[in-house]
Amino acid sequence: MTTENDNIVLHVADVHKTFGGLHALSDIDLQIEEGKTHAIIGPNGAGKSTLLNVVVGRLAPTRGAVVFDGQVLTGKQPHEINQVGVARVFQTPEIFPDLTVLQNVMIPALAKRDGSFTLNFMSSLADETEIRDEAIHMLEDVGMKASMDMLAGSLSRGDKRRMELAMCLMQHPRLLLLDEPTAGMSRHDTNTTIDLLKKIKERGMTKVIIEHDMHVVFSLADKISVLAGGRIIAEGTPEEVRNNPKVQEAYLGGAH
Ligand code: ADP
Ligand code: MG
Repeated sequence: MTTENDNIVLHVADVHKTFGGLHALSDIDLQIEEGKTHAIIGPNGAGKSTLLNVVVGRLAPTRGAVVFDGQVLTGKQPHEINQVGVARVFQTPEIFPDLTVLQNVMIPALAKRDGSFTLNFMSSLADETEIRDEAIHMLEDVGMKASMDMLAGSLSRGDKRRMELAMCLMQHPRLLLLDEPTAGMSRHDTNTTIDLLKKIKERGMTKVIIEHDMHVVFSLADKISVLAGGRIIAEGTPEEVRNNPKVQEAYLGGAH
């Protein structure tokens, strides 16, 4: 599969996804440029999470393909897709509640190094100075260093999401997918997260971000694709999308 632009790191090519008779995604063609922040917005049920699930290999598309850095991902397992440099912050945080925040943040780096998650590796947690130092640094970046010895399960929803973001950053992904990263956060924590995501951008990491909060979208996105009813109904810069009457009708002027 080819793309016209060499800077395209992710190409979602003619993807369809049906659930029984429901067309969750239809004719999705999406090209994500390297180093850019690409937002996907749209009303509830538009297909946004389904699209991310197809990219990370949690769902197989009914038709079409996902190409990352010239490599076809379709048909690969989620952990294989993760290993080629695609990381995701889930809509519902997936964490280890009985471990500390610091241990949670160390796990992705240890798993990447060891290739698997084993009991042995848990016993080696204490020895991993380098990974520990990096994890503390990441927690500082997301504003959570003070909570590093707390049990992850005891964190607020917003703090769990920030911890999960630190877990993703420990993998040094080339492509970071974020499904509503500020959901459940206070305005203050949302602003801290926006600042952090801007910082990541300076490091050149490509991001796809699904977000309901328009303040977040317009602060961060280089380009926006608008999904409604499983189709991309508009695409462009934040300014173009903001002024598109179709978008105002389908989304901005709607329930949100
Ligand atoms: P969004 O993230 O934009 O809110 P989703 O991708 O979660 O939307 O859902 C798109 C549509 O697909 C919805 O109608 C939803 O009910 C349906 N859907 C999502 N996942 C499944 C599934 N596993 N089985 C059946 N229907 C699903
Ligand atoms: Mg969703």
